Amino acid sequence: MLCPVCKKNWDENTTQCPICGLDLTTEEEDKDEWIILGDIDDRVSADFAKETLNTHGIPAVIFSRSGFFGNIGLPLHPFYKPGGGIFDIAVQGEFREEAIEILDIILGDHWHRKEK
Ligand SMILES: [Zn+2]
Repeated sequence: MLCPVCKKNWDENTTQCPICGLDLTTEEEDKDEWIILGDIDDRVSADFAKETLNTHGIPAVIFSRSGFFGNIGLPLHPFYKPGGGIFDIAVQGEFREEAIEILDIILGDHWHRKEK
């Protein structure tokens, strides 16, 4: 089973992604491309961002990178920067530009756009 957001493979008995909570798909069904837009400083801003994007008809997923690595016990991913945000936000590819525009407006300095 594959998470369309995190791109992680899970046991076939798993139905929801342990990281972001999204329903898992088989790899063949993975046709919607999810893109991680960047990270967000705090939980409140992350929840607000998700809510606002949903209001605009943009499906968004928030997940905590540090929480994931804490649970599994792996070292931090190399692209994790100390002082950076701890919540990742992902949307489907077709909404990328629109979502970035909205996040810039509502979050300003509280989110950090991922380099392309
Ligand atoms: Zn996931």
